[in-house]
Amino acid sequence: MKRPYLLEQIDDAAVVQCYADGFAHLPVDQKILAWHLYQAALAGRDIYYDQRYRHALEMREILEEILTHPDGIPDATLSEIRRYTKLFWINSGPHNNMTSRKFVLACSPDAFRDAMEMAERAGARFPGRPAESVAAIVARLRGPFFDPDVDTLVTNKAPAGDADILRASANNLYDDVEMGDLDGFAERYGLNSRLTKRDGRLVEEVYRLKGRYGDRIARIVHHLQDALFFAPPAMRRALEALIRFYETGEDPDRVSYDIAWVEDKNSPVDTINGFVENYLDPRGVKGAWEAIVFYVNHEKTESLHRLAESAAWFEVRMPWDPQWRRSDVVGVTARAIDVIVETGEAGPTTAIGINLPNDQRIRETYGSKSVSLANIAEAYEQSQLPAYRQEFCWSPEEVARAERWGAVASEATTAIHEVLGHGSGRVAAHLDGQPQIALKEQYSAIEEARADLVALYFIPEPKIGEIGLVPADHQADVVLAEYEAYARNVLVQLRRMREGTTIEEDHMRNRQMIVNWLIAHTPAIDVRTRDGKTFYVMVDAIAFREGCGRLLAEVQRIKSEGDHAAARALFEAYGIHFDPTLRDEVVARVDRLNLPSYSGFVQPRLEPVMGPAGEITDVRISYPLSLERQMLEYSGKGAGTRVS
Ligand SMILES: [Zn+2]
Repeated sequence: MKRPYLLEQIDDAAVVQCYADGFAHLPVDQKILAWHLYQAALAGRDIYYDQRYRHALEMREILEEILTHPDGIPDATLSEIRRYTKLFWINSGPHNNMTSRKFVLACSPDAFRDAMEMAERAGARFPGRPAESVAAIVARLRGPFFDPDVDTLVTNKAPAGDADILRASANNLYDDVEMGDLDGFAERYGLNSRLTKRDGRLVEEVYRLKGRYGDRIARIVHHLQDALFFAPPAMRRALEALIRFYETGEDPDRVSYDIAWVEDKNSPVDTINGFVENYLDPRGVKGAWEAIVFYVNHEKTESLHRLAESAAWFEVRMPWDPQWRRSDVVGVTARAIDVIVETGEAGPTTAIGINLPNDQRIRETYGSKSVSLANIAEAYEQSQLPAYRQEFCWSPEEVARAERWGAVASEATTAIHEVLGHGSGRVAAHLDGQPQIALKEQYSAIEEARADLVALYFIPEPKIGEIGLVPADHQADVVLAEYEAYARNVLVQLRRMREGTTIEEDHMRNRQMIVNWLIAHTPAIDVRTRDGKTFYVMVDAIAFREGCGRLLAEVQRIKSEGDHAAARALFEAYGIHFDPTLRDEVVARVDRLNLPSYSGFVQPRLEPVMGPAGEITDVRISYPLSLERQMLEYSGKGAGTRVS
């Protein structure tokens, strides 16, 4: 029997089970190492909920208490609360990950209050101020739960008019702070602090052992310390540096950790744990907490190694001004991995490729580590509905190519994006290795565009076939499949923006920008209609590639020179705004077919096997096949609860 991937669909979110088949074959000490890292990953999960939204943890606790004490709650109310809670779990709070927009509970506040009161009679315990009644809690959280106009966007980089980007963003990285407050302020803990005001003065609340999130960080550190004993030497050095950074919060300790982590190139089990990506922050500075535990997928890692070894060969062929090429390409360590668990910003919704560290200075000197999440890519592919391709492809040939080569093409493109894309190029000396400071809110989208363009530009290169990243005999088909899918995707991704007329998420902005730029400047893509439906049809692969080369030269110049005005103009013209009529059409097509627009992953579950003396003798892996069961267990409400 085929094992289940697509478990259920909640509105436009697919819930997909992720499998880690290689785990059972790891040596037992590596399994135990993974077990401790897994616990460290779960220990920090709530940090990200709180960073995303100041009410998120309290809201989650209320929802979970209701779901675990459901006696007497009317079915209609309970099923609406369950729908909302599942979306809340998938998105780590009440804002959609893709669109940044808040979603709301669709029952009445009175029905919700009644449900809470019934749950309380059945034994639920709600957070809240001492002696606060259920009615008072509902009144206080009415805006967060029910009003779409309260805290509308979690990250808003392009607010209407002159509105401030920090004030227009509902995340909890800033408290009562606006951009003007930062003028002349020396930010010491850029990545790992929350900015707030005390007596009118700007203050950094540092994320560290004796600072903000100290209780969670203490638990993370405890599990990391348990992991040390089982870690190979290079990984041990990295974990020790990470513990030190969690203790002090000081940037030089973060740098030491990043270096130790990137120098650990061979550990079969590895982890990412900390304040990493800065997409959540409209300024692009603060790090959102995340953790990933994974092991190397050896089979798929071979061709990535060959790609990484050829990095210098590709660097001298980058289609940009030679002054921005790196003369000293420090190898990117590229591996295909299978994830065991992803938390914080990394899960339940996840990337399929990761390249770290983000610190440009470390990348230029020490290189970077790049991973493709092989079992996530597999689960995406296996859970995909065929109707999805058929609806947006222009011809039967395009459908056939997508079915035959789509997975290969997307795996190869992701690999080039991560291995050659993010690792390539250099920036002007005056930027001091930190282009994100000059490019501000435009940085992430520029960097993602750069990496995508490197992948699109090189996928037809014969060397890619020679390396074995794609089958050499069918490289032309793979290129067509990729270019067609890339053009199509920009149309299809509009389904994720159900409201508004602007795009916030950086990867989506970058794809929109690239395709719209190609439409405006090259004959590569035809916009056609048939039966009232719009199609983006890739018609000229040579022009597509040539256009990507030209655009890449400009995008690299923007990054290298830190040209904020040019970045802004590029995304304003091609990446941010879309036609709401076209979006409505796409949404209608997707809704008619009931197709999901993004996926949340149910993670594997680890469980230690104990010996007679209470020592861990082995670690077992299993697959919960239920988002609800897993999320309640993560919150410590797992045992003996009734779930569906
Ligand atoms: Zn990327």
